[in-house]
Amino acid sequence: MGPVQLSTTVVSSQGFRDRLKEAYGADISLCYQCGKCSAGCPAAFAMEHTVRQIIRMVQAGLIQEALHTYSIWACAGCETCSSRCPRQVDPAKVMEALRIEAKNQGLVSDQEADLFHDLFLQSVQSNGRLHEVGLMARFNILSRQIFKDAIHAPGLLSQGKLSILPHKNQNPDAVARIFANVKKKRGGNK
Ligand code: SF4
Ligand code: SF4
Repeated sequence: MGPVQLSTTVVSSQGFRDRLKEAYGADISLCYQCGKCSAGCPAAFAMEHTVRQIIRMVQAGLIQEALHTYSIWACAGCETCSSRCPRQVDPAKVMEALRIEAKNQGLVSDQEADLFHDLFLQSVQSNGRLHEVGLMARFNILSRQIFKDAIHAPGLLSQGKLSILPHKNQNPDAVARIFANVKKKRGGNK
């Protein structure tokens, strides 16, 4: 990455930062870069830029650079960062917003993570809860690595940690309403 004219990028990115606030409820102008979010992030080791650095990039107008990172796909959505943030920035929501924006712009930098997210949500939508075996099987087939982690399956199955058949949620209508509401909120998109 070459030299960056920060004054120019900050001004030109104002619209994006406003959208983060209005559409996702994440006001990154509140972040004063204390680093508490990144210090507690269990996925920081797998990120090329920590969540604090990602927020700083967006603050500085480096939107496309932030959307291209693997970091936003390495984020596990555990919300440790949000619970530690003294400024209520909600960094986990920022990471989620950036994943959605990257996907909408065709900038997904980790196709496997994106596939995993999609299959996870499809499983929850179908069953009302996650069916791990179904998710693993579909992920391995669609990512063309049939035997990935298969070595662990017998042990997990014998200990009752996995179930071959899905356990259905008792209230599928409530789950369907949640998905419908999210879809409506996003203007009918996925
Ligand atoms: S904890 Fe909050 S204020 Fe501190 S760097 Fe992270 S997002 Fe910014
Ligand atoms: S939500 Fe993502 S960025 Fe925040 S602590 Fe968890 S893994 Fe890290």
